[in-house]
Amino acid sequence: MTETFYEVLRRQGITRRSFLKFCSLTASSLGLSAAAIPEIARALETKPRTPVLWLHGLECTCCSESFIRSAHPLTRDVVLSMLSLDYDDTLMAAAGDRAEAIIETVKEKYKGNYIVAVEGNPPLNEDGMFCIQGGRPFVEKLKETCADARAVIAWGSCASYGCVQAARPNPTRATPIKKIITNKPVIHVPGCPPIAEVMTGVVTYMLTFERIPELDRQGRPRMFYGQRIHDKCYRRGHFDAGQFVEQWDDDPARMGFCLYKMGCKGPTTYNACSSMRWNGGISWPVQSGHGCLGCSEDGFWDKGSFYDRVTGIHQFGIEASADEVGGAIAVGTGAAIAAHAAITALSRLRHSEPQNEKQGENA
Ligand code: SF4
Ligand code: SF4
Repeated sequence: MTETFYEVLRRQGITRRSFLKFCSLTASSLGLSAAAIPEIARALETKPRTPVLWLHGLECTCCSESFIRSAHPLTRDVVLSMLSLDYDDTLMAAAGDRAEAIIETVKEKYKGNYIVAVEGNPPLNEDGMFCIQGGRPFVEKLKETCADARAVIAWGSCASYGCVQAARPNPTRATPIKKIITNKPVIHVPGCPPIAEVMTGVVTYMLTFERIPELDRQGRPRMFYGQRIHDKCYRRGHFDAGQFVEQWDDDPARMGFCLYKMGCKGPTTYNACSSMRWNGGISWPVQSGHGCLGCSEDGFWDKGSFYDRVTGIHQFGIEASADEVGGAIAVGTGAAIAAHAAITALSRLRHSEPQNEKQGENA
């Protein structure tokens, strides 16, 4: 008989008290109310464990590095207990033929009812020779492993979009998972790497509720990628007031002004960095003084310099009035920013409206 998640966790030494605490942490990280805690507990107590096979293609393993540093040790231990029993190239103890045999066993025993998580992507040039595993191209292993899966999670921007391996001219033809696996749901969890709690949150949601989270048009779970970095950024007040860093070592930089003019891609990037932050909520890139690179957006690596200002901002996020004004006036980024700024900081932004300056520079 197949074990339930709860039985697996108890066998791994996790106490009932820790289990209930985990359910509570899971509910809050998924943005669910306390009413969801018993539902999560019941699901884990009664549902048979869903195996997860974690594959690695062309990548740097930063997604695994992020994942195992999930801020809350309990979450990390519980999620790893759920995963480590099956297959993970970098975390499992087994190696060689014995390790590869695990995939076949899971495929046979859990046909149509296991999840494949993929970190990295397959390179297709020269018959896939740029990524060989067990003596054959990774793309073959990927197709075979996913053949009977219920769903596929694409960890990070490499698996989701291609990322730096796919940068022009993409000599190895590094290819996103979704272009190879076309007959299964593929959930994108992009980022370079993704935030640890986003990864554990997505996999826990899928294992607990046995369903795919609601996705946006880029295939990302809305619960974590539904908001712009810019709309939750603690420097947003400076953007609205037209207070910008102009050089890395100027006084505005020391005062923590907005990094828009230094290339921050927060206005066009959807991720949870500005709300969840990194390393247990300690900090995040903008808080460290560097602009967002937009690493959770498709093609971020091929969009010119990380230090060029964003162009083409058409959305305004949370301020309804700014939305309306922006929508009415919007004829491009400059007009949109000007409309927003007109509401929040008329006088200052008149002298420092960023896109107008950019256009002036380009003229
Ligand atoms: S442009 Fe960047 S630094 Fe400025 S408010 Fe937006 S996200 Fe924050
Ligand atoms: S702040 Fe931007 S570049 Fe940095 S991790 Fe978050 S989405 Fe990626």
